Amino acid sequence: KKLDFNPKICIVGSGPAALYTAQYLLKNLASNNQVTIDVFEKLPVPFGLVRYGVAPDHQDVKNVIHSFTETLKNKNVNFFGNVNIGVDVKISELLNSYNSVILAYGSLGENYLNIPGEKEFSNVISAKDIVSLYNGLPNSENLKLDLSGNKAVIIGAGNVAIDIARILTSPVEKLAQTDISNVALDLFKNKNKIEHVSIVARRGVLNAAFTLKELRELTKLDSVECRIDLENFTEVNIDNILNKLARPRKRITEFLYNLSKNSVKSKSKKVIELKFLRSPIEILGNSESVQGVKFKVNKYNFDFSNLDNLYDSEERLNSIPVFEDKSKPNEVLQCDLLVKSIGYKNVSIDSEIPFDKKSGVVLNDKGKVIGKDGLYCTGWIKRGPRGVIVDTTSDAYETAQKLFSDLTNDQNSTQRPGAEKIVSLLKERSVRFVDKEGWDRIDKAEIERGKLNGKPREKFQSIDEMLKVALE
Ligand code: FAD
Repeated sequence: KKLDFNPKICIVGSGPAALYTAQYLLKNLASNNQVTIDVFEKLPVPFGLVRYGVAPDHQDVKNVIHSFTETLKNKNVNFFGNVNIGVDVKISELLNSYNSVILAYGSLGENYLNIPGEKEFSNVISAKDIVSLYNGLPNSENLKLDLSGNKAVIIGAGNVAIDIARILTSPVEKLAQTDISNVALDLFKNKNKIEHVSIVARRGVLNAAFTLKELRELTKLDSVECRIDLENFTEVNIDNILNKLARPRKRITEFLYNLSKNSVKSKSKKVIELKFLRSPIEILGNSESVQGVKFKVNKYNFDFSNLDNLYDSEERLNSIPVFEDKSKPNEVLQCDLLVKSIGYKNVSIDSEIPFDKKSGVVLNDKGKVIGKDGLYCTGWIKRGPRGVIVDTTSDAYETAQKLFSDLTNDQNSTQRPGAEKIVSLLKERSVRFVDKEGWDRIDKAEIERGKLNGKPREKFQSIDEMLKVALE
């Protein structure tokens, strides 16, 4: 539909959710209207967790950047990097300047274990910090990560835990060919003595949160044995349950079961073991560092012999309760490094945003923020920090549809000033921002730097360096 004004839309964040939403909007709106989409990003560089979350040895996944680059190149799309919305510019200022504002700023916080010892000992590290270090996020380079011990425990059994276990045990020559940060590469090359990694989950083997692709990759690493004890299956009546699970869950469970049957202690130098039904209750250490974790043992409290096809959905499967098994003594796993991989957490970036602390999402109806006309949300901030990049396409589609229909039905919409207004505010406030051309200069310089070391790119790790390349 042709509108009688040129809609101005802005997006807060430049990760997958932001750029997929921009793609849908361009498809729906730009054919009939002179639409403008302005993307505001806190960092000087775009792409969110594709650049700073996805593991460096997964360059195939990072290739989605090519499609996002095309979106940014669109003449109707502008990029404003190094602009921290909520601090440099308020949401109310964006709402006054644009017809629609879309929040796509992802998950900035993290969860805590809240158990004794968590904050006391060194080398108790969050997954978010390790991931940021190996991906070269600005200001992550000073992390005190000591890899001189032999054993690591990772708490949590999602894909991020698997990424970290893989990176910790991968041959350094393989990592050297990726866009891993130089700081991390030096550490892995010269100081990494980790040979045994335990990935430990609170819930049972039927609730493993990782995907089959990531798990399978773990079992194919050179000189690393991935193992799981048959003991993990004793409770679940595996032969009875397999055919009653939905297909993806069935395939993972079957894979794990076969792995457990074939788990022979081999001569592999390094080991990654998976352990389920263990909740950490205390972190142990001495004045120097972490030394171990104490776990209570859990059990499913459920009769797996009588399922009647009830467990064909993940939701039902995840509703099976687990309880402490009081007949089993607590267990201690010794470790020299403890990684907490228990999830990211959404936060609010501006008190004006209707944010529900309990559910941890921006209050919304199909992407339209409740109680704030013109405000929308998409991606992890809309539905919580779960799922992979392709999952953000359905968020993006739903939000774009909602916004499109609101825009075309709203009789009161008028021409808005858009970037003209915001750029004058940024200048007034001395905020130096990076535009598309500036990002292009950073991108090209990083790729050139990478060529010198046989890497796809060598990221700039300091914001000052990025701004220098982009703006001077
Ligand atoms: P994000 O990607 O986090 O993007 C949010 C953007 O908003 C960021 O650029 C951020 O800097 C910006 N921002 C934040 N605050 C502000 C502000 N105040 N003002 C302006 N901008 C702001 N999925 C896969 O498919 N494959 C994988 O291999 C994979 N690996 C992953 C590894 C890790 C460690 C993590 C955490 C996730 C991984 N995922 C993977 C999941 C995937 O990254 C997410 O599904 C996806 O990135 C979510 O997109 P998003 O746009 O909602 O958030």
